[in-house]
Amino acid sequence: LRRQRFDLVALVREIFELVEEKARRRGTTLELLPPKYATVDLTIVADRNRIRQVLINLIDNAVKYGRDQGQVRVSLLESHRGVRIVVRDDGPGIAPEHQARIFERFYRIDKSRSRESGGSGLGLAISKHIVEAHKSGIRVKSAVGEGTTMEFKLPKPKVAPGAP
Ligand code: ATP
Ligand code: MG
Repeated sequence: LRRQRFDLVALVREIFELVEEKARRRGTTLELLPPKYATVDLTIVADRNRIRQVLINLIDNAVKYGRDQGQVRVSLLESHRGVRIVVRDDGPGIAPEHQARIFERFYRIDKSRSRESGGSGLGLAISKHIVEAHKSGIRVKSAVGEGTTMEFKLPKPKVAPGAP
């Protein structure tokens, strides 16, 4: 891993721009919460490029498997030591029997629907691997008909940026 300090808010915005076109076609709204991140940033320590890959997949999944005219919300929840990153959609959700298996390589729930929306079924397996390499874990919470939440934690720097 190439751990470095970087602004997570800027990274999320960069990914929103990447999926913007796909989101617009589906009428999906992309939101970053809480609203204070319109003006403040959030420095974390992690491998930026790898975390970028994780966030691209989670946000892409939320748009791709979410509902039309739906909402995809990314929340950054700070605690003293770290930040919890939560990606939520209000799509069809994932049934309990699939929830563990979606992290397996090539596992896709609805083969025909998934083929339409493209993809190889590798995104979550890779994401899990990357988050675990950061000594963290990725977890899914989902209820059929309500939506899906994916979340993981990353550390904040031990010393404030710019401190002596
Ligand atoms: P890839 O990410 O490699 O392009 P993929 O999106 O199909 O392909 P994963 O990201 O690993 O692969 O996801 C695995 C499967 O889990 C998906 O095919 C889909 O069936 C299901 N899934 C993932 N995220 C969601 C979600 N937010 N809502 C509903 N189903 C989901
Ligand atoms: Mg994917």
